[in-house]
Amino acid sequence: MIQSTNNSKEIQKHLVIVGGGFGGIELAKRLRKTNLRITLIDRNNYHTFQPLLYQVASGGLGADSIGYPFRMIFRGQKNLNFLMTEVQEIDSASKQILTSTGPVTYDFLVLATGSTTNYFGNKLLEKHAMPLKSIPEALNLRSDLLQEFELAMRIDDPKLRQQHLSFVVVGGGPTGVETAGALAEFKKFVVPHDYPGLNASEMEVRLVEAAPRLLNGMSEHAGNKAIKYLNELGVNVSLNKIVKHYDGELIQFEDGEELKCKTLIWSAGVRGQTIEGLGPESVERSRFQTDEYLRVKGEEDIFAIGDVAGLISAENPKGHPMVAPVAVQQGELLARNIKKLVLGKNNLEPFKYKDMGSMATVGRNRAVVDLSFWKFGGFLAWLVWMFLHLMLLVGFRNRLVVFIDWMWNYFSYERALRLIVRKYEESPIDKAT
Ligand SMILES: Cc1cc2nc3c(=O)[nH]c(=O)nc-3n(C[C@H](O)[C@H](O)[C@H](O)COP(=O)(O)OP(=O)(O)OC[C@H]3O[C@@H](n4cnc5c(N)ncnc54)[C@H](O)[C@@H]3O)c2cc1C
Repeated sequence: MIQSTNNSKEIQKHLVIVGGGFGGIELAKRLRKTNLRITLIDRNNYHTFQPLLYQVASGGLGADSIGYPFRMIFRGQKNLNFLMTEVQEIDSASKQILTSTGPVTYDFLVLATGSTTNYFGNKLLEKHAMPLKSIPEALNLRSDLLQEFELAMRIDDPKLRQQHLSFVVVGGGPTGVETAGALAEFKKFVVPHDYPGLNASEMEVRLVEAAPRLLNGMSEHAGNKAIKYLNELGVNVSLNKIVKHYDGELIQFEDGEELKCKTLIWSAGVRGQTIEGLGPESVERSRFQTDEYLRVKGEEDIFAIGDVAGLISAENPKGHPMVAPVAVQQGELLARNIKKLVLGKNNLEPFKYKDMGSMATVGRNRAVVDLSFWKFGGFLAWLVWMFLHLMLLVGFRNRLVVFIDWMWNYFSYERALRLIVRKYEESPIDKAT
């Protein structure tokens, strides 16, 4: 068991952070010059830069470029210990968490476990649809995409071939829009050169959204521009369309339409990734409910930040959006508040989100940016999108590699990272061989 007290420094408090996402690492970094003993726990040994997952899935970037090992991020931070394990339960009465490798005690606990894909209870969809929330899932999608093409090359029946070359992306938020754009570029720039036996027009990329517009969290201007850009790339956009059923072969929509398709990418829902053990008042709508100081309701020493935190107020009746800047700003604020708590001060600062704007990209040269004072799209927006994403990546090496890959892709019109390193299990190629 990892104990919360340290014999040599009895007053040293033990802070346990569960989750090394945007919120968790920001918090841990900002507490490096304190007397706290910090344990950062994550089920993976690396931080994932989720906004670029879709580029790994479409062969534009390597997986290593968007992940960064925690032990390298925190190399030199003497008050932090990293523990790779899965947290399974919280026992606040005895101030300990139960992990897959044993219990860990804490003085302060911060839950920064992010979010996971929400299938809204549809088990069949969960079994057959492809999510895009983690690096292994992005690699699954990349393998599946490439395997479908290898299989289609061997099929003579055009109807059957088309089923393997239909890619339906469900969810018209930034992830869905960006993924559909990347697939359309694959169709445009890769298929005609690398799959000579196929006609590129046989590949269909369809984006399906239940709402009457795309990019719901952004302005109408951004939503309309995204449709225009996607149409220019040849993506078939369907609004007001709801998936009712998918069994891995056939999609049934609520309006009665049916579509045969082997790959359905699900980016239509996320929910907080909570952990069992706290009282019923602490979790609502799959997020830990917190007060304005990010303290979990009903708890004294437990806090939540990022996607998993639901700070509900009159201004934000549904809680803050599940985006990286919220997680980072909450990490920053909580660091200041924890420093005060350690000193026995009670003048904690409440959390106020500074919304700096949002953006999404739709293939090369096209993006949309919403700032409070200016909404714009096109090439300039695309440059802004690229610059900000490069700057937000963790680690100089990753920034350099991503920059080089982007330049290579831009000038060669290539998607060079297309190895099927491990086959996707449910893929038809496995069934066929
Ligand atoms: C495909 C995609 C694209 C996105 N694009 C954008 C974008 O363009 N702009 C933007 O602002 N936001 C974007 N987001 C959202 C953004 O990535 C999240 O809001 C952000 O990552 C939330 O940070 P977090 O710290 O709350 O959690 P996360 O970054 O999700 O990190 C949570 C961490 O907790 C760990 N964890 C979870 N449960 C446990 C457990 N039980 N035990 C141990 N470890 C655990 C996970 O391994 C993970 O490392 C995107 C998300 C996705 C999936």
